[in-house]
Amino acid sequence: MDYVNGPGRNHLFVPGPVNIPDQVIRAMNRNNEDYRSPAVPALTKTLLEDVKKIFKTTTGTPFLIPTTGTGAWESALTNTLSPGDRIVSFLIGQFSLLWIDQQQRLKFNVDVVESEWGQGANLDVLASKLAEDRSHTIKAICIVHNETATGVTNNLATVRKLLDEYRHPALLLVDGVSSICALDFRMDEWGIDVALTGSQKALSLPTGMGIVCASPKALEAAKTAKSLRVFFDWNDYLKFYKLGTYWPYTPSIQLLYGLRAALDLIFEEGLDNVIERHSRLGKATRLAVEAWGLKNCTQKEEWYSNTVTAVVVPPYIDSTEIVRTAWKKYNMNLGLGLNKVAGKVFRIGHLGNLNECQLLGCLAGVEMILRDVGYPVKLGSGVGAACAYLQNNVPLIPSRI
Ligand code: PLP
Repeated sequence: MDYVNGPGRNHLFVPGPVNIPDQVIRAMNRNNEDYRSPAVPALTKTLLEDVKKIFKTTTGTPFLIPTTGTGAWESALTNTLSPGDRIVSFLIGQFSLLWIDQQQRLKFNVDVVESEWGQGANLDVLASKLAEDRSHTIKAICIVHNETATGVTNNLATVRKLLDEYRHPALLLVDGVSSICALDFRMDEWGIDVALTGSQKALSLPTGMGIVCASPKALEAAKTAKSLRVFFDWNDYLKFYKLGTYWPYTPSIQLLYGLRAALDLIFEEGLDNVIERHSRLGKATRLAVEAWGLKNCTQKEEWYSNTVTAVVVPPYIDSTEIVRTAWKKYNMNLGLGLNKVAGKVFRIGHLGNLNECQLLGCLAGVEMILRDVGYPVKLGSGVGAACAYLQNNVPLIPSRI
C-alpha cells in the first residue's frame, strides 16, 4: 500500500530517481527467470552491445552491476588504482564531495581542487598540476561531469585537451550519473577511461543497476591495480563474458528487461534527439527562473546543466519549505538543497523520459508554491517565458512524422 496517496499522477521532478515510462514498467512486470538458461545471456549480449552507444564508445567494455551510482564509483576506483595512488579530484558540490570521501576512505592520496558551489571544476589548477607533475605521480583525474547538487556541467573535452597537451598518462575517471544519456557525452572522443552511470537517472529505470564502461587502458590498469575488491572485480565479469554466460552472480531479470525497453525507447527517439530534448528542457527552465526574478545557483552560462537547475531563493525564504509545500499541496516532488546550499536552493530535475508539457506542469506548480511561501512572483511569468521558447523550438515527435 502507498504510504500516503495523493490525487492524480505524482509530479516527480527530483533529479533522480526519475519517472519510469509505462513501456519500461510493462517490460519489467514479469516473473523471474533462470539466468543460466540461454535466454538471459542472449538478452545480456544485446544489452552490452547497445549500452556502449549511450557512452558513445566502440572500444569500451561495459559492466552492468547490481548496485547504485555509489557502487559504480567504487568499481571504477578499485579496479584501476592502488592504495596510496595520487588522484586529482574536484570538489564542487555534494556528489563530488561524497565521491572524494569514498576515495579517501579507500586510502588513495587525494589532491582536492575545491571551487565555490555553483562553479565548475577549476581546470586552470588542473593545468598547473599537470605541468608540474613531470614524474607522473598523478595516477588519475576524477571528475563529476554533471554536479547534481548545484546544476553544474564540467567541460570534459577541456580536461582531455589538457591531459594531451601535457602528455600526461593519468587515467580519466568520470562520474556521468546525471549526464550520460541526457547530455553530450563522448567516451571515446574525450579519451575517458572509466565512465559510469546509475539506472535511476537519464535511463529512467528503477534504482539498482550501476553501468560502468572501461576503456582498453583502464582494463590494462586493472591487471596491476592492488586495491582490494571482491564484489566489484571486473575480472569476475570478464571470465563469464568469455564463457558467454555473462553473469558472475544473479542479475535482476526485471531490470535487464527494463533496460532493454529503456534503450529501445531511446534509440527510437534517437540519442541525439534525446540530448536535444534535454537541452530544450534546460533552457525552458532557466528562462522561467529568470522570469521569476530568481538566480540560478550555477554561476556561469558555460556550466549550465540541462538535467537539473538549482534555483536560489531570497534570504527570507527557506527553500525546504518550497519542497515541503510541493509535496503536501500539489503532489509534486522537487529536489532539496543539499549540505552547503541546504535551505538556500531548491532543485528542478529535468532529465529522463520527460516532455515539455510535463515540465510546464512543474513550472506552474513552482509559481503557485513561490506565492505560497511569500515570494511575490507574477503568476504565469515563468510558464509564459518557457512556453514562448518551447512553442518555437519543439520539433515533431520523430516516430510520428
Ligand atoms: N553521482 C551523482 C552525480 C549523483 O547525482 C548521485 C546521486 O544522485 C550519485 C553519484 C550517487 O548515486 P546513488 O545514489 O545511485 O548511489
